[in-house]
Amino acid sequence: MKRITIFGATGSIGQNTLDLIGRDRDTYKVVALTGDQNIEKLARDAISFDAELAVTADPDRLDDLRQALSGSAVEAAAGPEALIEAASRPADWLMSSIVGSAGLAPGLKALEQGTSLALANKESMVCAGSLMLSTAKAHGASILPVDSEHSAVFQALIGEDMGAVERVIITASGGAFRDWPIEDLANATPEQAATHPNWDMGQRITIDSASMFNKALELIETREFFEIEPSQIEAVVHPESMIHALVGFRDGALMAHVGPPDMRHAIGFALHYPERKSLPVERLDLVKLGQMTFRPADETRWPALRLAREVMEAGGLSGAVFNAAKERALDGFIEKRIGFQQIAPVVEEVLSRVSANRGHIDAAITLDNVIYIDHLARIRADEIMTEIKG
Ligand code: NAD
Ligand code: MG
Repeated sequence: MKRITIFGATGSIGQNTLDLIGRDRDTYKVVALTGDQNIEKLARDAISFDAELAVTADPDRLDDLRQALSGSAVEAAAGPEALIEAASRPADWLMSSIVGSAGLAPGLKALEQGTSLALANKESMVCAGSLMLSTAKAHGASILPVDSEHSAVFQALIGEDMGAVERVIITASGGAFRDWPIEDLANATPEQAATHPNWDMGQRITIDSASMFNKALELIETREFFEIEPSQIEAVVHPESMIHALVGFRDGALMAHVGPPDMRHAIGFALHYPERKSLPVERLDLVKLGQMTFRPADETRWPALRLAREVMEAGGLSGAVFNAAKERALDGFIEKRIGFQQIAPVVEEVLSRVSANRGHIDAAITLDNVIYIDHLARIRADEIMTEIKG
């Protein structure tokens, strides 16, 4: 039996992972499932999958979780330390699908155990890519990308020599406001931003798709994961979301990964790797699709993309600053403290203030330093949002 743990089991990626595992229950033993506020769902799945342990990230919800699990054999735990403990329990495969930089520490802990890490939590690579890769290497663990674009690149690179890679192109749907006139974006609401044309995802990543901050994170993730130069990485808007990424080689060949948008492909690929097994995803009918279109990823419309380039050039801990500033500015937008068009200026100003002390960015990429700089960037973001309001 393959021992499986899912971090962020109650979320969109977590539920898709359970959907795949649930189709083949005899093959898998669920070790731990984690969630946050959605206690009922967490307990329901932990009982139904006969998990050893269920953990909520919120220490104040331990009693609720105990209650929801009463009468079952599932152990209950809560809080950040319980998450780390869950990550250190022996497992063969762990899905990292917490949203935000909160996913970093549990992911690192799993790698330290030598566990294969299926990584949906792109924030881990953005905040501490080199630390993730070196930890995996030191403990003989593998990291399998689950972000659809990075899974696509990973698959296109199998059997290839990295030295022959000229460029990597990741696609973006363009999100909810792709076709809006720029003048209207100032009045865009969180509710409007949280609807995605093609993908069904959690609220935060869906809004990040509308602002293109999701693609910005993914550009940085590409650089960190595949260790290629920023100048080799491009983003292109592809409204149909059928091609997820392309790898260009020095002989001019472009290898594309094509398929209908369904995260169970990338999750299933990581689950069965290095084998390929049958997956319950729709098969693409090219004739029915008819055509695919592409547009430039305009950095004026989506300043997040320009900021991502600056972050890739700056390196060091600037990815952690960028991510934390974005997380906080996104909170501000969801809480209607700032407008949609203020998300990027807040992030840019945080980057500028924190980077003014070069020592902040050039400090070693350790978990402690990432936690420190993440905290500092959030404080700066709050200050800036208060200044805007004032
Ligand atoms: P989601 O909001 O649906 O789920 C997030 C999960 O994380 C939930 O289980 C929630 O309980 C948990 N969580 C939230 N805050 C937490 C905290 N502070 N500590 C511990 N747990 C916490 O998000 P999602 O759409 O499933 O995305 C999860 C991750 O996968 C993100 O990093 C996202 O960028 C990435 N991703 C998602 C998709 C997608 O299709 N949904 C695609 C590619 C990458
Ligand atoms: Mg993606």
